[in-house]
Amino acid sequence: MSKTDGKDESVKSGKVSLYDVIIVGSGPAGYTAGIYTSRARLKTLLVTGTLPGGQLMTTSEVENYPGFPNGIFGPELMMNMRQQAERFGTIAVDDEVIQVDFKQRPFKITTSSEVFESKAVLICTGASPRKLGIKGEQMFAGRGVSYCATCDGPFFKGEDIVVVGGGDTALEEATFLSKFGKSIKIVHRRDSLRASKILQDKAFENPKIEFLWNSVVSDIIGDKKIASIVVRDVYNGKEQKIHAGGLFVAIGHDPNTGIFTGQLELDDKGYIALKNNSLTSVEGVFAAGDVHDYRYRQAITAGGFGCMAALDVEKWLTERKHSENKAISSSFYSNA
Ligand code: NAP
Repeated sequence: MSKTDGKDESVKSGKVSLYDVIIVGSGPAGYTAGIYTSRARLKTLLVTGTLPGGQLMTTSEVENYPGFPNGIFGPELMMNMRQQAERFGTIAVDDEVIQVDFKQRPFKITTSSEVFESKAVLICTGASPRKLGIKGEQMFAGRGVSYCATCDGPFFKGEDIVVVGGGDTALEEATFLSKFGKSIKIVHRRDSLRASKILQDKAFENPKIEFLWNSVVSDIIGDKKIASIVVRDVYNGKEQKIHAGGLFVAIGHDPNTGIFTGQLELDDKGYIALKNNSLTSVEGVFAAGDVHDYRYRQAITAGGFGCMAALDVEKWLTERKHSENKAISSSFYSNA
């Protein structure tokens, strides 16, 4: 674990520290929430998770985040957000939450090296790339199989590359990979794409990109690294072997909610179910960003949800304080 600002020695001391709010996760939702809660003078701890900055750390240029007319690189955007949250007092720790206990108050948050307590918790753990679940996928991960074109694309210079998926990510990644690869084949399980029209147009116009419709990848073949993949037609079951030096899987994401199972209500897809605005099924526990939103999943919407959740946390803590004070003063007068 590393801590960045040296403001709170209790983080390193080993004793349990009590926060007003602990934010779990460090994507746009988490950092935006940190900016708001720390500006509201709430004692805020933010546990970043294993990939500080979240999914945008593995993105190249972000062109659709307002305020940057010439675009900004994902990692730079996330570092800016982190610095902005820290500037107002958010304590960011680069650690992973391994356990939560929402059954007692204050809530208990256990990381791989510390135990923290908090009056409120805001979950911003996002979502992770989905796997194909086929033979060879795990074995060739990092040896030809990748889930992030912007991270690994430059390693595939001059290669024949296969991209799986028909959404925005698949098409955006295929277009990006065409800068490096010799050829790009997009394998999609249907005959129409769910990607936005502008990305479709870009891909259709790109002479390096070809589509294999109604097809799925059924096997990965190679030795030390990928040499070819097998593609199966979903209608007639016919298989063909395709030479490929790289396989980029871009088939969506799953929410990072494993540690919350049994602690709060999840929906049928495993995303956090919200009751009221950002409030989860446990009073005092809030959620924001891709961990509950599988529809929009944009940096700007995640940031917006982070802002809304932070305002909800502030309101809830204020109301709680008022009712506690009221209870104390009424017991004082009844005992007088
Ligand atoms: P997505 O929209 O859920 O698309 C996933 C794609 O993978 C779909 O085409 C789906 O096929 C296919 N797929 C799912 N499971 C599969 C499996 N087991 N085998 C084969 N194919 C499978 O995910 P996404 O593309 O990652 O996008 C997620 C969200 O981020 C979307 O809201 C998107 O608009 C947004 N996004 C936006 C941008 C941008 O605006 N620049 C860039 C990237 C992402 P079906 O179509 O048949 O379901």
